[in-house]
Parts: sequence; C-alpha cells; structure tokens
Amino acid sequence: MKKKRYHLSPNLRIITDPASELAMIYHTLYGNPRIVNEEGLRFLSIFRQPITANEISEFCDGDPNDIIKEFAEVYFIVEPEFDEKKFLQDKKNQQLIQTRRRMTVDRMGLAISDSCNFGCTHCIHFQPMTSSHQALPIHQSSHSQFNMTWETAKRCVDQYITLMKEQRKSHGKIHFGNAEPLVNWPVAEQVLKYCNAIEDFSFEFSINTNLALMTRQIAEKFKKYQVRIATSLDGTQQANDAIRITKDGRGTYARILEKFDLLAEIDYPLDGFSTTVTESNFEFIDTDIIDLAIERKMTSIAFDYDLVGLIHVPIEKRITKLMRLKKYANEHGIDFFGTWDSPFRNLTSESLLFGEHAFCAAVQGKALEFNVNGSIKICGHTTTTIGHIDNFDGIFKEDSGLMQIITSRFPGTDKYCFGCEIEGPCGGQCHVTREVDSRLVSKERQKLFTDMCNFYRMTTESLALEYIRSNGTVATVNRQNCIF
Ligand code: SF4
Ligand code: SF4
Repeated sequence: MKKKRYHLSPNLRIITDPASELAMIYHTLYGNPRIVNEEGLRFLSIFRQPITANEISEFCDGDPNDIIKEFAEVYFIVEPEFDEKKFLQDKKNQQLIQTRRRMTVDRMGLAISDSCNFGCTHCIHFQPMTSSHQALPIHQSSHSQFNMTWETAKRCVDQYITLMKEQRKSHGKIHFGNAEPLVNWPVAEQVLKYCNAIEDFSFEFSINTNLALMTRQIAEKFKKYQVRIATSLDGTQQANDAIRITKDGRGTYARILEKFDLLAEIDYPLDGFSTTVTESNFEFIDTDIIDLAIERKMTSIAFDYDLVGLIHVPIEKRITKLMRLKKYANEHGIDFFGTWDSPFRNLTSESLLFGEHAFCAAVQGKALEFNVNGSIKICGHTTTTIGHIDNFDGIFKEDSGLMQIITSRFPGTDKYCFGCEIEGPCGGQCHVTREVDSRLVSKERQKLFTDMCNFYRMTTESLALEYIRSNGTVATVNRQNCIF
C-alpha cells in the first residue's frame, strides 16, 4: 500500500512566546490550537518537504505515527494533493443545506421598539448611513411605526415556535432588543404572558435595556419570568456620563445605579453589565468600573470598544488597556469579554472541521431578529433585511438574503480575507462593521476596515500569548524524541 506523505499546511500559523519558550500553533482556517515546545516545533519542521512516517521513524526513537495522525486530523500537515478550495466548498455546502432545511435557527429577537428615552450618540442603532452622518432609514419612520404591535409580536413568536417544533425542539430563546424595549413594555409583557402559558414549550427570555424606565412592578415581572437582563454602564460616573446621556444631555450614572439597587432589593440582582468605550470616555475608563462590579458581587463585564468609531486611538493603546483590565477582572473572578475576543474564543472553542462556524451566531444563521414592522434581520444591530414575516418561508430559499450572508461570510470565500492569520476564527468580522464600512466613502472605508482587522489580529495574538503562559505547561506537545 502506498505510504502517505505529508507536508506542512501553508495555513499553519505559529505564535511564539520567547518568555516561556513555548508556541501556539493553529490552522488559520480550522483553528484547533496546540501548545508546543521547541522540540515540537522542530518535529513540525520535518514536514517542510513531503515525508512519510517511515522516513521520519529513521531519526526518531519512538513511533511518530500518533502525533502524525493528530496533526493530520487537524490539517496542520496535509497530503500534497489536498484540495483546500474543494474541501471548503463542501463544508460550505453542508452548512447551506442545513440552513435550507431550516435546521440552524435556534433563537429569535423581537425589536420591540425603535425609539429610545436616552440620547447616547454612540448607540449602534443610530450609526451614520454615510460619511455625512445621515441616519439609518429605520429611524426615519413615522412615530406610529416605532413600536411593535401585539399582533406582529404574536405572529413572530408563533412562527418561531413552529420552526423550533419542526426541529423537534421544545425549548426556545427570545430576546427583547433594539433601541429601548421598555418604551413598549405592554407588548413585551404580553409576549411574556403568552409564552408562559404555552404548555408544551419552554422559553429563556432576555432583554437589553438601559433600565431607566424599569419600575418596581416591571422588575418584579422580570423576576417572575426569569428574564435575563443585559444593561449598560459605560464606566464610573465621569466615563459613563461622558457618553451615556439623556436626550437633553444629562448624565445617567446615578439613575442606572438606582435601578441596580432596585433589582438587588427585590432579590433579583444583576450578575453583570456591558461597558462601551468610545473616543469620548476612553481616557476615563479604568479598573474602578471593575471594582464597582466586585463590590456588587457581579461575575461578568461585557466590555466593548465602539465597533465603528475608535480608529483615532492607536491600536496598541486600545489593546494594552484591554489586556490590563482583563487581567484585573479575571484576578477578581470577573469574566471579562467582548466582541474583541470573538476570534480568539472561536479559535479555542470551535472549528469548522467539527461543526458550523462563523464570527457570531447571527452570521452563522442561528438567529432571526424580527423588526418592529415584521421585517427580519440576522441581528438586532444590523440593517440588512433578509425577509419578512409575511413571507417567512422565503428566508430559507436558495437565493434568499440569509443564504447570501452565509455564502459570502463562510471562511475561504471573501477574497479580502484570503491568507489572513485569523481567517477562520474571524470569518470576516462583525457584520455591523461591514455594513457601516460599506456606507462610507472609499478613503474612510479602507481606514475603518483595515483598523478593525489589525485590531482583531493583534488582540488575538495578545490573548494567545496570555493563553500560552497560563496553559502551556499542561498542554505541551512533547512526545517525540527525535534527532534533528
Ligand atoms: S475581516 Fe480582517 S481580520 Fe477578519 S478574517 Fe478578514 S482580513 Fe482577517
Ligand atoms: S453581527 Fe456583530 S453585532 Fe450582530 S451579533 Fe454578530 S458580532 Fe454582534
């Protein structure tokens, strides 16, 4: 039988850490990182030319077959005739088939209202449409169209339940999001009551709210229906009040903390909050916001830089701050995460070799966000519609907007990303950045996208170095004893 020859995949990436003398190796499309020592790197270097296991055995004491098998399974080494393009096309086809069979969606969002009681200028829902800062069309609707009606909400929920039942599921996830859902609380409450009364189906509910309109009565309802609350506090007073403001420009810090206290009083305390950092509060953000979370016995902070507007702060400065805050938070038992660590989280937790994969659940076709008027998107922050509740089945047709997004965002498809060191785990990054970017004039456009790419690549490398130092000693590939 012909012996298999292997050589290094051209998509193998090595991040070395001189301090620990260890390295992380991973496939730029399929991930599966491994920590290796110098000996492991020397072993890999044998594969610079195609070689068989027998040929390697001649200068190794042990049997190299296990480690060759392990590296071949994750495509660190490949046979010279391996056709990566075809392999990726097959994987993409599998994902598209699953989507067409209506098997991928597992959660829904209800854009319960398009209006908001706050006036934060950085809000992702009010991103500029062009460089002249024209607002997005959704916010140009007449006042009566700002809130979702109960009839629309019910139709969306019923459709979602039908879809989940087709997948033989008896549990679903509903998220109330968009601008400020509590502006339209009566409809949100009606949805909660309605869903709760369904006997053969259970739900997990979540809501994104700025909390300002939350009365004690609403808070009690959140507790009753176990609604997971995602809220924002953009730093301690000075940092928060620099950007999170009322329509007449007043700070919101004191008001938000009052609501934190109210939730604690009714024994339904928050376990964390989100912090957004823009150019205007960047300098005011520090570990004091983490101290606030520690004092309140919280366990997580979702921390994000403005996805489209922080290019004036140098990337190195952004990453240094992120890593310092993350270290401080982790040392105090606080999970500290955000869109910035998505490529690294993807790299270390999933791979398109073993399942579906994309930058986030939305781009993967797992989420349906129903707009106020019944139109449908992949995520509450995006503006691209993929269909309408009036023609729900159309979403899963071959030429639908959903199929187009999955097709164009699948790793190995976007020419701009070819050869990128995080091509698979990043998968073309957040769809919102792409949308805003596509609306900018060409010079600004290039700048924003390049900045975000460099930011993701450098953040992933910093997180990899941190990972090597904290996990390296237990995970080192050091099983060969070869003479090189
Ligand atoms: S969007 Fe940028 S960082 Fe992400 S895969 Fe493409 S080139 Fe790489
Ligand atoms: S597209 Fe962007 S904003 Fe939407 S879910 Fe994905 S990462 Fe989040």
